[in-house]
Amino acid sequence: MSISPDALRELHRIHRQLTDLRGRLARGPKQIQAGEANLQRLEQEHANKKGILTSARVASDEKQLQLKQREDKISDRQAQLNTAASNKEYQAIKEQIAADEQANSVLADEILEALEKLDELEADVNTAADVVAKSKDELEKVQQKVSKEQSGLESELARVSDELSQAEAKLPADFRTEYQRIVSKRGEEALAPVDGETCGGCYTTLLPQMYNDLLMEKPVFCKSCGCLLYLPEDRNVGA
Ligand SMILES: [Zn+2]
Repeated sequence: MSISPDALRELHRIHRQLTDLRGRLARGPKQIQAGEANLQRLEQEHANKKGILTSARVASDEKQLQLKQREDKISDRQAQLNTAASNKEYQAIKEQIAADEQANSVLADEILEALEKLDELEADVNTAADVVAKSKDELEKVQQKVSKEQSGLESELARVSDELSQAEAKLPADFRTEYQRIVSKRGEEALAPVDGETCGGCYTTLLPQMYNDLLMEKPVFCKSCGCLLYLPEDRNVGA
């Protein structure tokens, strides 16, 4: 059984290409997933800010209603002034009105503050909405880019897989099972070039016998990492 270093080099090249293609194929959906998760997070933030704005609006409306009711009460008391039975009663109503006006002035300040806060919250909500819209646009672009790339990568993967089948068909039949066993487990990590006197996979020094076997084009596995070894191009037999 002999396997040329050329054949093994070719196999390793194809396996590396397949790993690269599969990695790129997996990256697209991951990018989309990340974009979707980001959009979801931003939408949640937008919804939270809207919730805060709504509560603040309700609180502000309540204060305005309260102010209106107290102002009505003051009007009522002013009307009562005209019907006061005594000077004492008149003074008491006057004092009551003064106290109400004082309370209303505090409330009016609070309302003014609340309205300013509402403007801020509204701006926050609008900013969050813009961020959501931008993120949606970006996600759409990524989806389009990925779907465009995916079909190209898939046909490339099919082409290279075919190339692999053809290269594997050339392996000696009695070696193919062993090869398939290691390749199915390790993919491109199943093969390694010899690097100087060492295995290119794990850098363990090769035994002289292993090197001789390689020169004789016998299948050689690294005793340390189990890689199927091959001679690099510049150390090809007869080269
Ligand atoms: Zn090794």
